[in-house]
Amino acid sequence: MMLAARFYQPGDVRVEDVPDPEPGPGDVVIRVRSCALCGTDRKVAVHGHHRLRPPRVLGHEIAGEVVSAGARVTTWAAGDRVQVIADFPCGACRECERGHLTVCRAREAMSQHYDGGFAEFMLVPAKVIAAGGMNPIPDGTGFAEASLAEPLACVLSAQELAGVRDGDEVLIIGDGPAGCLHARLARARGASRVILAGRNPARLARVAELIELDAAICVQHGDLAGQVAGVTDGRGADVVIAAVGSAAVHEQAVTCAAPRGRVSLYGGLPQGTPPPVIDTNYVHYQELTVSGTSGASPAHNTRALALIAAGAVPVADLITHRFPVTQFASAMAAIASGEAIKVTIEP
Ligand SMILES: [Zn+2]
Ligand SMILES: [Zn+2]
Repeated sequence: MMLAARFYQPGDVRVEDVPDPEPGPGDVVIRVRSCALCGTDRKVAVHGHHRLRPPRVLGHEIAGEVVSAGARVTTWAAGDRVQVIADFPCGACRECERGHLTVCRAREAMSQHYDGGFAEFMLVPAKVIAAGGMNPIPDGTGFAEASLAEPLACVLSAQELAGVRDGDEVLIIGDGPAGCLHARLARARGASRVILAGRNPARLARVAELIELDAAICVQHGDLAGQVAGVTDGRGADVVIAAVGSAAVHEQAVTCAAPRGRVSLYGGLPQGTPPPVIDTNYVHYQELTVSGTSGASPAHNTRALALIAAGAVPVADLITHRFPVTQFASAMAAIASGEAIKVTIEP
């Protein structure tokens, strides 16, 4: 038996003994070395998720070490250090054929259709391996850093869709881990200025120092669009990334964009949230492009891990708390309190 954090229903996640996973002929079993927590885990733990069938081991930001492989597995062996994707596409539908893997209608996910990484061991299904969903971790990159490749992959997918490029003034709304990763990646992609808006002044000051922001805006001082105009010569930001799952933030994001700006709605809203009211006339006259984004493809994961390994997007300093799986509740509390930036479970 092994310890795992399993979701039963909204508000009910139990750390308990479950049977060790046994690999089928095409599967691999890893010893989980780091599985990072993210806002989505908290959202799922509190509200549930339409694609998740309980009981289910949570955790989708996964890095570990291969301990056993099925008889048909030839490319992986015990001892290999690996990072595992969260979402994986079917590879056969119209969306997949067109290369739009993140919106594959038959996509499945670790921690939703298959048990995830908040456990001592995890089965990597043959389908994940076939989809290119397991990446070797380069020497010199730790498991905890590698486990941040999955959230960075989602951030990378969003910034590609929003076309973040050289010379852009980028506004990120949200000082959580996703906001920090967005800020670091925007810088790596050549943003001329990185501006971040947050709610808690103490946290904002800490993030501003850590990320070396060009400007930090506290939303509690009111009129976000006015404050953004104040630090962008009255133009607004070329790219606005709503990195918070809040309807109000989605509404405000659009009003902070410069003419011809791009707005990325990165943070998904909890199930049941009344739809935000977006000023489409502002979108119309400013010729804005609004993009949605959800998850990441296997190739995004590969490239995100390479960005981390190369030092182009540093992540080690974002990991402020590490817990064993037995302290899952404390890990969740560290996220909820706003004290942590990134939290990992190291079972
Ligand atoms: Zn995540
Ligand atoms: Zn598909």
